[in-house]
Amino acid sequence: MARNYSPVFTEATPSEPVPSVRFSELGLSEGMQATLEAIGYTEPTPIQSATLPVALAGRDVIGQAQTGSGKTAAFAIPVLERLDGSRSEVQALVLCPTRELAAQVEAEFERLAKGSGFGVLTVVGGDPIHRQMEGLKRKPAVVVGTPGRILDHLQRKTLTLRSIRFAVLDEADRMLDMGFAPDVERILQQTPRERQTMLFSATVPGWIHRLVERHMRDPQTISVSGQAELVDTVSQWCIECSWADKVEALSLLLDSPRVTCGLIFTATKRNADMLHTVLLGRGYDVTVLHGDLSQHDRDLALKKFRDSKVRFLIATDVAARGIDIDDISHVINYDVPGSPEDYIHRVGRTARAGRDGVALTLITPIEILKIRDIEKHTRRAIERHTLEDLQQLAGTVSAVVG
Ligand code: ADP
Ligand code: MG
Repeated sequence: MARNYSPVFTEATPSEPVPSVRFSELGLSEGMQATLEAIGYTEPTPIQSATLPVALAGRDVIGQAQTGSGKTAAFAIPVLERLDGSRSEVQALVLCPTRELAAQVEAEFERLAKGSGFGVLTVVGGDPIHRQMEGLKRKPAVVVGTPGRILDHLQRKTLTLRSIRFAVLDEADRMLDMGFAPDVERILQQTPRERQTMLFSATVPGWIHRLVERHMRDPQTISVSGQAELVDTVSQWCIECSWADKVEALSLLLDSPRVTCGLIFTATKRNADMLHTVLLGRGYDVTVLHGDLSQHDRDLALKKFRDSKVRFLIATDVAARGIDIDDISHVINYDVPGSPEDYIHRVGRTARAGRDGVALTLITPIEILKIRDIEKHTRRAIERHTLEDLQQLAGTVSAVVG
């Protein structure tokens, strides 16, 4: 079946079948085929199926797929296959948003590089810089790092990117959310233009479009959406109110005893902080999760929410990715999601594992078109309500939102 590689610039088509190729059909080296067999990768995942032929041919690639879809090997295999064994210099640079993700990428590279003789070094903040300097002197073929620490080495001249032939931006949307956009640009500017660039991300916000225009050459966009569909057990509501009444509307919702465990989404980190302060001021049991917080604070917020030590969690889209909690009763969109895909991702946090769930979206009157867009995309109706409805039903609001 011919696959429509729906460009992320328009819309991703959920759940589209991807023709599967076998690893044996990709012209991989014998060593790589043996490694894949040894680690138990019998078949490529859909994103690997779709990106490997393109990336192995040397083309720039934008790969969009959910967390856990095997994106790391989708770039690690082509990079390792295309490295030049006769050169002893840094040939590939992989940028990751956090040290944890960098460590995961390094581990996958090392598994796949086994027997190839290519060295992989991780360069992230928080680790002793002198040991990294020693490692870089040995000219590993692949450097995996976080943008801040990579820049640090560039400034100290303990790393140069002149010999880079492959640049990978992994989890690009999270890099943006963590404020790394300018660093990423500065790093890419120091790499040769003739490199192959691969970008992987679960979502493709505006910054990525601009970055792509500036730094990628005629990239092929491949978008594979796994299970990104709304389940039948989720009820969807939108509540129309003025901008100024949003906190009021939200409070009415949070006061419902049926909202046992609510995940509240905002469009920006600033809105998240603002709302956090306002809700705390109103006495709500709430915490916040976004990319400007330290890893420790993010872990803590998530743990408290998971362990039901706090009833409400405010989060930005990207920070909430991968939140794996099964019994979130309500997802509340304080700000309308930027795209129908974001809506589906957000709402996918509730009604998991066959449970019921409720999705509530606050909208200002001019945002009704966005709701229509979401309805069209999900082919599911969202019930319309107003703040007045909520106020009237305040006493019995649980009957409405639960
Ligand atoms: P992503 O970056 O998309 O979140 P990862 O690259 O971290 O996903 O992969 C998720 C998991 O899937 C990892 O445990 C990885 O080892 C495994 N995996 C990747 N590719 C394959 C494959 N072809 N067959 C089996 N498991 C795979
Ligand atoms: Mg990944």
